[in-house]
Amino acid sequence: MTKKNNHKYIFVLGGVMSGIGKGIATSSIGKILQASGFRINLIKIDPYLNVDAGTMNPTEHGEVFVLDSGLESDQDMGNYERFTGITSTNDDYITSGMVYKYVIEKERNLGYKGKCVEAIPDIVNEIVRRIKLSEQEDRSDISIIEVGGTIGDYQNTMFIEAGRILKLKNPKNVLFILVSHLPVPAKVGEMKTRPTRIASQTLNSYGVQADFIIARSSVKLDKKRKEKLATSCNIPEKNIISAPDIESIYDVPINFELDKLGSKLLKSLGLKALNGIDLKEWKNFVLKSKNAKKKLNIAIAGKYFGTGNFILSDSYISVIEAIKFSSYNLGIRPVLTWLNSKDFDRATRKPSSLKKFDGIIVPGGFGESGVGGKMNIIKYARENGIPFLGLCYGMQLAVVEYARNVLEIKNANTVEIDPNTADPVIDIMPEQKKKLEKNDYGGTMRLGSYPAILKEGTIVRKIYGVDKVNERHRHRYEINPEYIQKLEEGGIIFSGKSPNGRLMEIMELSSKDHPFFVATQFHPEFKAQPLLPHPLFTGFIKACINKK
Ligand code: GLN
Repeated sequence: MTKKNNHKYIFVLGGVMSGIGKGIATSSIGKILQASGFRINLIKIDPYLNVDAGTMNPTEHGEVFVLDSGLESDQDMGNYERFTGITSTNDDYITSGMVYKYVIEKERNLGYKGKCVEAIPDIVNEIVRRIKLSEQEDRSDISIIEVGGTIGDYQNTMFIEAGRILKLKNPKNVLFILVSHLPVPAKVGEMKTRPTRIASQTLNSYGVQADFIIARSSVKLDKKRKEKLATSCNIPEKNIISAPDIESIYDVPINFELDKLGSKLLKSLGLKALNGIDLKEWKNFVLKSKNAKKKLNIAIAGKYFGTGNFILSDSYISVIEAIKFSSYNLGIRPVLTWLNSKDFDRATRKPSSLKKFDGIIVPGGFGESGVGGKMNIIKYARENGIPFLGLCYGMQLAVVEYARNVLEIKNANTVEIDPNTADPVIDIMPEQKKKLEKNDYGGTMRLGSYPAILKEGTIVRKIYGVDKVNERHRHRYEINPEYIQKLEEGGIIFSGKSPNGRLMEIMELSSKDHPFFVATQFHPEFKAQPLLPHPLFTGFIKACINKK
């Protein structure tokens, strides 16, 4: 443990462009420092004015990662939890929106006692206050703070300024790491250092000197480039870490350790790892992932894939990683196929084309588009014994599909799609109704961790191995209590319910009728970790193996 008032801060900033793996670098640094015996906490700063990530379109911003507390955060928070196993707290996520909202509300309440309130120093002070709140809440020795965006953006300057102020007060306790991109233009055939130099100079103009550079590139940095960066960016050569593209993000901490990044960071902060840096368990997992050879074909049916001419899978990153963790543990290499549910709606693709899959997942979603296609996909999985896992919307639509096609409730629907349906088997939760009437959308769903009681003798009771679980939620609609009896009599088993029995948290079909048809109102993917694969995903993958 570090001494009182000796808390350490590492700021991770991005140079040149976005999308170069700042989040993975931050997670990996967290992993290494944690493995060196220090208590760490990871903070993500998003410079946008949205108060949280909940109101953003996943195709544009990627997955919304829900914390135990219910805060709707950035997908990087998911990486932090997966790499370190730490359950993030509310204060570990900061947006400009949160900061400004707080300061403006405080001003309205005369909290500044008649003073003129300004970005500098009031916004910066509020950022520092939040960073300190987070370290206290997490009782950490070292805070690793990832500032979203790139150096040179107008939006993130206040956060870099907060870092500068912290360093000014305590120079030995604060480090800045620049994660930068070094392009190797095909026509030139040589790695270029100049963009990174400009990023470093821009940072200097803020009064901040980078202490380390993590040099992201398609290939390894050579000696010549290291020397050049060291001189032009004013950084010791040993603090320039080569970070070439590698096969798996989970290799990154191991790769950093080849350059001894952990002990270099600790040394710069005046700390020392007492028992070395122990990444044994992590290396074991990485080895398992590499040795997993047997292939399984798994389809994920969603709609947040397309962006222009590109396919993006970021919207479902936690689902994808959860599949991988359970698969690797069983020696399986999952081959994932994205099904655009809209194709199955218009019947441009026939459900029979799903025959080749060993398992199908329908993840969470919102709104009308692609819903018919999702239901056609679910129907095919149900009728043809393909292992099926439904998540949130995936469960609601599985219930609608069952009601329509098995129980012959022809108008069965969710009121999310048809508010006037004669058979609202999925209805809005009563407390949600009022919120929508007031257009109160931000952060108002049923969010975060809630318990579910598992029913004896069911598939999920067996795979979880316990009778009560806590899982994370994000929804406004629920199985309509008025239809539960009918649905149960018709063959749906609600194997997980809220403790008061009102909310249906898990549904399954009898293993006599289907090898594995399980769906959850919650999002188990948010709690799957490399070193702790999620039982539901493991159960699903096992069923896929059996089917094959
Ligand atoms: N749209 C559904 C609801 O709000 C499902 C949400 C989800 O899949 N996360 O209840």
